[in-house]
Amino acid sequence: MSLTEVKPGSWIVQMNYRNRSVFFALLFVALGAHMASKDYSVMVWSFFALQFLVYPHVLYWRAKRASDAGRTELNHMLLDTLMLGVWAAVLEFPLWITFILVVASTINLAMFRGLKGVLIALAVMATGVSMVVATTGLHVSLHTSGPVTAFNIACIFLYLMVVASGAHTRTLKLQETRVRLRSSEQALQSANLILKQQLDEIHALQIRLREQANRDALTGLYNRRYLDSTMARELARCQRDGQALSLILMDIDHFKQINDTYGHQAGDEVLKHLAMMLQTRATDIACRYGGEEFLLLLPGMQQVVAQERAELYRKTFEKTVITFGDFRIQVTLSVGIATYPGHGVTSDALFRSADQALYRAKSGGRNRVMVAQ
Ligand code: GH3
Ligand code: MG
Ligand code: MG
Repeated sequence: MSLTEVKPGSWIVQMNYRNRSVFFALLFVALGAHMASKDYSVMVWSFFALQFLVYPHVLYWRAKRASDAGRTELNHMLLDTLMLGVWAAVLEFPLWITFILVVASTINLAMFRGLKGVLIALAVMATGVSMVVATTGLHVSLHTSGPVTAFNIACIFLYLMVVASGAHTRTLKLQETRVRLRSSEQALQSANLILKQQLDEIHALQIRLREQANRDALTGLYNRRYLDSTMARELARCQRDGQALSLILMDIDHFKQINDTYGHQAGDEVLKHLAMMLQTRATDIACRYGGEEFLLLLPGMQQVVAQERAELYRKTFEKTVITFGDFRIQVTLSVGIATYPGHGVTSDALFRSADQALYRAKSGGRNRVMVAQ
């Protein structure tokens, strides 16, 4: 049976049913043997049989149907105690019989309520006794015959054994539940761990995705989208800090011819080579601006320094031989430079200036660097 299928308190119902029906059957014999030596009416005998033979089964039937079995069973124990008090008084307090009735009742309630249960048991029992004494007056006859005494001692011994074994069963159940709880806790922890790992993976994927959204697939350089968002930010920073900002805009010369002569894949190889050359400095923001146009955004860089850098790139690229299969490809760059604040104070103005400088480099014969005017 799984944990969730156990009705709360149902084990108490089962245990009490077993204890109650066994103990009441024994009491039927013990008290009956004592009563047989006296002169009781048929009505008393009938009530006696109902009490000790039928009553435990009625209580069980009731407890099984209760929504809160544990609570119902606790009330049943109070009723047991009350009735045993009544019978002790009806039988005029035979010493051994009264003793086992008191012991059984107090032990029962002590098991569920502790010391408080003992006090409750004694009080409820006293109530049962008082009810009889109030009706019939106080009659005391302590004596029980030898066989009845012996049987009563055996009864209480047996009862205590049943209670003790019930306590043992309860301990086992508790341990079992504890083990099950522990394993569910472990399962929960490992599920948690897996969830955390998945969340970490998702997080890493998100970062990669965001990074990819800013990158050009062919060259790995930043794309136009990233440039637009970062340009405004970098320009504002340089304005605030009173620093220069240079743009180096490059366009491969006669690139269409490269494609036409060596094929599109060869053209791609050239683009990748140029990108590699531009990617060497971590502080530069190198972007693929268009098909075969590239832009370096250089915060804090003066025009003269940018011009030197551009010349260096142009010369290096001119000398670079790119091999693609059997082909050895050599190409040149035209470059336009614009620097903040001299050539513009807005992003648009700076891009326009760089573009115009590049146009002049092209119209001036290509393979050259021009600075904006
Ligand atoms: P110019 O010297 O005036 O710049 O001449 P150009 O041929 O370089 O310029 P044009 O604008 O006429 O041609 C650019 C070519 O770049 C056309 C296009 O097919 C090619 N291109 C654009 N993107 C890619 C790409 O991703 N891979 C390859 N292989 N070629 C590309
Ligand atoms: Mg172009
Ligand atoms: Mg070109």
